[in-house]
Amino acid sequence: NPTSSKPAGDDDSKAPLPKGVVLDKDGKPCRTCTSVASWRALTKQADLNKNTTSSSSSSTANKMTTSTPALAAAATPSPSELPSDCPPDVEQLGRSTWTLLHSMAATYPEKANAEHQDNMRGFLKFFSKLYPCWVCADDFQTWMAHPSGQNQPRLGSRKEFGWWMCEAHNEVNRKLGKKEFDCRLWEERWRTGWKD
Ligand code: FAD
Repeated sequence: NPTSSKPAGDDDSKAPLPKGVVLDKDGKPCRTCTSVASWRALTKQADLNKNTTSSSSSSTANKMTTSTPALAAAATPSPSELPSDCPPDVEQLGRSTWTLLHSMAATYPEKANAEHQDNMRGFLKFFSKLYPCWVCADDFQTWMAHPSGQNQPRLGSRKEFGWWMCEAHNEVNRKLGKKEFDCRLWEERWRTGWKD
């Protein structure tokens, strides 16, 4: 589950990680797998932990406060306040990537020849291994490799590929508890613009 935190080996004795912080495979917090709100809660917790080691009398109270996700989140700005020149969080990375992926579908040939299909299949294979949020990448690979074969990229034409990409995106939307997008509208959203 990409939105739940895993215990860090070295940090087991410390306060639990704030809700939503995802660790990298090396056990360190993964910035591109974590929302900016959770990341801010984490850095706040680290700051408070630093302060509590220098003023030990209030250490228990401080740890309890910062390990409460609701309180930590309340003190953090919303994701839209992430300055534009900061490294991306999982949401900004996701939005930019979906823009790239749907735009690739929007500019895909109406009828794709074998070479074009092979190139896109190769791109999706490597993309799903190299996407910088590893939990997202793992789940995306698992979805594509469904034993029924029903989620294999459909690459014969722009319409097929655009619809497939929309289904892939909807799979992530469902996982995150977001509203599904009506795939009949993908082309208006990503290629032609909305009809008046
Ligand atoms: P986004 O979901 O980024 O969508 C951007 C825009 O695309 C929307 O405003 C809408 O106009 C349009 N849109 C929405 N759905 C569709 C659709 N089905 N078809 C066509 N257009 C659509 N985040 C996590 O926290 N955990 C994960 O495991 C995770 N996995 C991801 C896997 C991949 C491959 C990618 C690319 C991103 C993943 N993300 C994940 C990021 C997540 O999908 C969102 O990008 C992020 O939460 C920001 O969401 P958003 O609501 O701003 O809109």
